[in-house]
Amino acid sequence: MSNQELDQLRNSVDEMNLKLLELISERAKLVQEIGRVKEKQGSYRYDPVRERGMLNLIKENNEGPFENSTVEHIFKEIFKAGLELQEDDHRKALLVSRKKKQEDTIVNINGDTIGDGKPHFIFGPCAVESYEQVAEVAKAVKGKGLKLLRGGAFKPRTSPYDFQGLGLEGLKILKKVADEYDLAVVSEIVNPADIEPALDYLDVIQIGARNMQNFELLKAAGAVKKPVLLKRGLSATLEEFMNAAEYIISQGNENIILCERGIRTYEKATRNTLDISAVPILKQETHLPVFVDVTHSTGRRDILLPAAKAALAIGADGVMAEVHPDPAVALSDSAQQMDIDQFDHFYKELLNSLPVHV
Ligand code: PEP
Ligand code: MN
Repeated sequence: MSNQELDQLRNSVDEMNLKLLELISERAKLVQEIGRVKEKQGSYRYDPVRERGMLNLIKENNEGPFENSTVEHIFKEIFKAGLELQEDDHRKALLVSRKKKQEDTIVNINGDTIGDGKPHFIFGPCAVESYEQVAEVAKAVKGKGLKLLRGGAFKPRTSPYDFQGLGLEGLKILKKVADEYDLAVVSEIVNPADIEPALDYLDVIQIGARNMQNFELLKAAGAVKKPVLLKRGLSATLEEFMNAAEYIISQGNENIILCERGIRTYEKATRNTLDISAVPILKQETHLPVFVDVTHSTGRRDILLPAAKAALAIGADGVMAEVHPDPAVALSDSAQQMDIDQFDHFYKELLNSLPVHV
């Protein structure tokens, strides 16, 4: 074979490659179109029966020289690439994503417009223990002109022998105190069945780290119109976190505040590792407000203030921290809650550190 002949054959192969490229690109566009139709119908993208049918048709028409197994392998790669394209489209289409909605979502609670560009704060005890305990913290919160009060009534505890919270009774205490001080209540719900009875007593449904992927709870919280404070799971990636929020928003409830609360790493100096970079990433990727819980992320009273400053400096919409009149005797998280004096100092210093006073 002359060099000229070889060149000709190579040119033909090059042309063929380009034709194949054109064909698989056209095929990809058709697959994307199918993906959009399926999304409208709400049906699954991956359809194994259809894939088997396509492969069978291809093999029936295979006249060689490739073995059927080789042809199957090549086409399965093409199918896979098409499916990945559909998934890319799908990711872009997440309702929590900025690609879907450009402007910031503002969650209005008791006149506090979270996500408006100014810092907001949620303070209160880890757990509701008594009327007097909650009232003392509420007084300090109100004294600062703040509007939100947290407190755990249903406590998800690592050990079943630890204090589990006062349940609905705890919510009633919170509500009574909150009404007296004109505050809104943020409290965790752990069981979908408790949402309905809790609606009269709380203003924000908190979904805790341990329940971030409790999909039935997420769906139930999405089905009611109350704002939801969704905490990042102990070992959740940001993608998983955003998908958890997607469960809520997909039910029609857009009033979601994401809360970074530290993730589990090998570091033992803090209770969890505050993933501070999660804040700007979540702000970029989603249109939802982002809070940082400095209490559970650090687990250390001595670094609550710098952690809170860092949170606001990096763009968080607000900070959450726990306050107890007498942390030494608290029924949960006694090592990291602030007492009232520490709270006063923390809040004053935090405000002073801001470029523009609020
Ligand atoms: C809480 O905020 O009361 C709490 C239990 O936090 P987390 O779910 O982040 O552990
Ligand atoms: Mn706590």
